[in-house]
Amino acid sequence: MIDPFGRLVSYLRVSVTDRCDFRCVYCMSENMTFLPKKDLLSLEELQRLCGIFVRLGVTKLRITGGEPLVRRDIMSLFRGLGGLLDGGGLDELTVTTNGSMLDRHAGDLAAAGVRRINVSLDTLDPEKFLAITRWGRFDRVMNGLATADAAGLKVKINAVAMKGVNEDELPDMLAWCHARGYDLTLIEVMPMGEVGDHTRLDQYLPLSQVRRQLAARYTLEDIPLNTGGPARYVRVAETGGRLGFITPLTHNFCESCNRVRLTCTGTLYMCLGQDDAVDLRAVLRAHDDDQAVIDAIHAAIAAKPKGHDFVIDRQHHGPAVARHMSVTGG
Ligand code: SAM
Ligand code: SF4
Repeated sequence: MIDPFGRLVSYLRVSVTDRCDFRCVYCMSENMTFLPKKDLLSLEELQRLCGIFVRLGVTKLRITGGEPLVRRDIMSLFRGLGGLLDGGGLDELTVTTNGSMLDRHAGDLAAAGVRRINVSLDTLDPEKFLAITRWGRFDRVMNGLATADAAGLKVKINAVAMKGVNEDELPDMLAWCHARGYDLTLIEVMPMGEVGDHTRLDQYLPLSQVRRQLAARYTLEDIPLNTGGPARYVRVAETGGRLGFITPLTHNFCESCNRVRLTCTGTLYMCLGQDDAVDLRAVLRAHDDDQAVIDAIHAAIAAKPKGHDFVIDRQHHGPAVARHMSVTGG
């Protein structure tokens, strides 16, 4: 699948639910209205669609959400998709999770063929953790991480950098992650969806600033590592670990975008920051053979936008798109 800008699309991110057991302040408002369950694709439909994408050239699948591990019976989807690894066309099956259910599921994820997971964790302070996630339990995430380690999963921590919230803690978080063998990726707040009483201008911390702060304590060596994602990586000389920066606001990397995003209702978004989308659910349900779905996917790829237009400043602090990050899973 090649888009009009010559970019090869080989990575599909699948949001399997818009629901979550947390209410992170940058992601959701406290009172969210979620989709009625009847609108969701079944796990079998998700499996069928993912299989079609893999036949069309997707080699990497990331299961995300909302919180993917809260969806009932989600391990059956992981087991099914795991069958596409090792010669079935898929090179990597992975997941992004808030970690709250990892203590229950890490072993099953590993057994299904998942090797690496992303766990979102913005602070090491349990009180701050509660303030950021509103509903999260820090100790459960720590248990989940320990279970993931024991199951042999390679962990990357994702932390959203927030002005005045965790900015003073980021050097210590880096040390903590690298001491455990976890990579750390820092993310800029993106203006997606209304988040209640918090404004983006209050939350937004440019990572160019964070990088300067970290460089005062650590030696950051640029490395050319390209994981097919928007993160740019450095090696930290003192720890030997890797640190990534996802900077959609201060530096846009859309020119190398290789991904599209499927929601739990079967809507395919061609860009995280634009509204261009195609409904694959109707065509999937209307046809038992896959050709019509394949045609719809090709038409969608042909309409992939060039890039997002995220801006956060005094004039622009409302959402760039109305949907929340939990719809497309980041
Ligand atoms: N619930 C899972 C989790 O938190 O890892 C998966 C879904 S969550 C939407 C995926 C990632 O998006 C998380 O790392 C989260 O921190 C990030 N995220 C959510 N809203 C964001 C926003 N407005 N700007 C930047 N990152 C955001
Ligand atoms: Fe839930 Fe993840 Fe959004 Fe936090 S970032 S509210 S854990 S979906």
